[in-house]
Amino acid sequence: MKTRILVKEGEYRLAKAFCMDPKIDAQELYCFLTGTDKVSLFMKAEEEVDPETEQKYMELIEKRASRIPLQHITGVQEFMGYSFNVNPDVLIPRQDTETLVSEAAKTIQGTPREKLSFFEKLKGGKEWDVLDLCCGSGAVGISIAKICGNTRVTASDVSEKAVETARVNAKKLRARVKFVTGDMFGPLAGARFDMIVSNPPYIKTNMISILQEEVKDHEPLSALDGGRDGLDFYRRIVDEAADHLKPEGFLLMEIGHDQGEDLRKMLKDSGKYSPAEIIKDLPGRDRVVKCKLK
Ligand code: GLN
Repeated sequence: MKTRILVKEGEYRLAKAFCMDPKIDAQELYCFLTGTDKVSLFMKAEEEVDPETEQKYMELIEKRASRIPLQHITGVQEFMGYSFNVNPDVLIPRQDTETLVSEAAKTIQGTPREKLSFFEKLKGGKEWDVLDLCCGSGAVGISIAKICGNTRVTASDVSEKAVETARVNAKKLRARVKFVTGDMFGPLAGARFDMIVSNPPYIKTNMISILQEEVKDHEPLSALDGGRDGLDFYRRIVDEAADHLKPEGFLLMEIGHDQGEDLRKMLKDSGKYSPAEIIKDLPGRDRVVKCKLK
């Protein structure tokens, strides 16, 4: 069978199983199996596929048709241009979360020179102590460490297996990140940061059942479920982050598209932070809340 026909067959099978992007996934799986990229796939469109490859390909397609996430089959997800290892122990990094990383990087790189202390100027800039709370695969903290050279990143998660995955990612991507395991700020007693970033679980418990099968059946629930109103983790972060920020330190959190006003109010009511700024993602939905310790 020709490559083009085989991949088309894969696409039909995935469409019949109601996968969201059948064409992209069918192509990605062929590239993954044969170790090629999309350009070579198109160049080889008219070439014959050997029966063994054909059979292996259809096995992968069947796996995907059973609604196993593409990234659990390929083992990777690209985020901020870096390839992160993923598995069922960690949330697969979302493109939406690139907004959080971009805003963090902009904040770190955008400090005006006149705001630096004498010693910071001498050293050629400020070193930022950054905490990635609820780090999962490490995508957020590792990307910040890669993009901003002047950072010392600590990443933490309650899940030992997540931290293990994040460690592997930091090593693979050659990022200098310190990891700690424990519940929220538990293992960070006494530590203070210039910036805390977090993409905590924020889906309302009763919304989990209507998520796509790939998400609700294969991704870690503990990385998604934010309690009855989805805000459980924000309440803890808003309450405790102030004790772990240096003066005028920044707090940046990813939020659900409809949680902006709740967060603005929560931060205001705490009395600890400057007025919150809400940053939108690429499709124009509220995605990140940013504020500063008063
Ligand atoms: N944005 C993710 C989703 O929709 C949820 C991420 C989170 O809860 N932090 O699946």
